[in-house]
Amino acid sequence: MTLQPIPSRTCPLEPLAPSPLPASLAPFADPLGLDTSLEEVLHQAATLLCRWMGRASSHPPLPGLSVLPAVEPEREGLPPDRLLADLQLVMEGAYQPAHPGALAHLDPPPLTASVVADMIAAGLNNNLLADELSPSLRRLERSLCGLIAQRLGLPAGAGGVPASGGSLSNLMALVTAREQRCPGAGPEAVVLASADAHVSLDKAVRVMGLPPPALHRLPVDDDGRMDIEALEGQVTRLRRQGTPIIAVVATAGTTVRGAVDPLLPVARLCRAHDLWLHVDAAIGGAFALVPRHRSRLAGLGAADSITFNPQKVIGITKTSSLLLVADPSTLQATFATGLPYMEPSWEGGHGGEEGLQGTRPAEILKLWLGLRQLGWDGVDHLLEGALRRRRQLVALLAPDARLLLRAGPLHLLAFRPRDLDPEACARWSQLTRQRLLEHRLMLSRPCYQGHHHLKAVLGNPHTRSGHLEQLAQLTLASLNTF
Ligand SMILES: *Cc1c(COP(=O)(O)O)cnc(C)c1O
Repeated sequence: MTLQPIPSRTCPLEPLAPSPLPASLAPFADPLGLDTSLEEVLHQAATLLCRWMGRASSHPPLPGLSVLPAVEPEREGLPPDRLLADLQLVMEGAYQPAHPGALAHLDPPPLTASVVADMIAAGLNNNLLADELSPSLRRLERSLCGLIAQRLGLPAGAGGVPASGGSLSNLMALVTAREQRCPGAGPEAVVLASADAHVSLDKAVRVMGLPPPALHRLPVDDDGRMDIEALEGQVTRLRRQGTPIIAVVATAGTTVRGAVDPLLPVARLCRAHDLWLHVDAAIGGAFALVPRHRSRLAGLGAADSITFNPQKVIGITKTSSLLLVADPSTLQATFATGLPYMEPSWEGGHGGEEGLQGTRPAEILKLWLGLRQLGWDGVDHLLEGALRRRRQLVALLAPDARLLLRAGPLHLLAFRPRDLDPEACARWSQLTRQRLLEHRLMLSRPCYQGHHHLKAVLGNPHTRSGHLEQLAQLTLASLNTF
């Protein structure tokens, strides 16, 4: 049984005011002078978007099923008013991450500077494949990747490359690790990670031509952290058998409960055995950006590679993920093919030779502008708010011994009734989620260690104490009916 979106109280966006829209929009902006038609349409589109954002708190985070506009192009192209009306229909049915009750996933509302930068990046339409197609942006990309790598604790000279999502960053990390640590290894090579590591590792192993058991999932302790003794035992066993180890993947911020693996002991072990350490800090990486929270990820800087998803915590528009490496030449050594149809790179290699992607958009622009908008203090403030909300929700729920809470040092909290069997937990989570949705509070429902939980991600800066009190009240009430 799948959950249906709650029935929609259909509340369409107000139609745009009678507009001075131009009768037509040329398919390409006029290169000879200011294109006032395009300017006007962008203006109207901006108004449409701002209205959609401005009503975020008065509409549910998950809208009811909406009407989709026609999908197929008509024989003749449409004028701007029709284009905007069609866009509006799609917007009616969009998920609203800025609703204060949007707490289900790692999808925060977008930073405004990031939205602006995304629009500019679309207009520039540069290509990070090669220097000559993105002169300033490529320099910005290289230099911001280097800066963030060092901010996360990697050594001077560290760098990296943006990727369209953390799954791709993890895949590229493992491909690089294999190339560096066991070149030529066949399907007998393995990757070590914890039971709670992200599913993208399963995908990566598949894409790399390895059988599914090549991903060894090690047990976690009661706090959801990789069991270091189990790791040690497994490494010793594999070494004795002569099995090639591609990498150890530690997770800094597991997807269900935000646990951080013991990075320092894992790093020590990896160093002793000359193993590649990849840290999947897709979620936790943001906390290492600022001094106050950096200790939550102590040891991160000892990694050979790190996945970090600014899209998940600090509101950079999607997609924004980075693969950061202690030694950037390892990316070149793994992915460079030569680009015989391009002028040589004039500064340290083309973007298209440092990862799997060829053509890439200027995702760096929205990360750069978003960070500039926030400043380090703004990042600190966002993270502190998220942690404060997690602590508040824990304080509200913890006194009830019927609940089993699962949290780590980050801003995620999963919970379930302690004594229910898996089937009852599935029903409880489904009914409670539905009940919360009726109050415009959206949680997710992960199945973790055999039981369904409800999970709150507390990174939404619009969520107030009152929302959390209501969430706790409804949750506690749900226990009385089970
Ligand atoms: C979300 C997530 C990923 C995958 O990132 P995508 O951007 O969704 O591809 C990888 N690892 C962890 C820990 C995650 O939470």
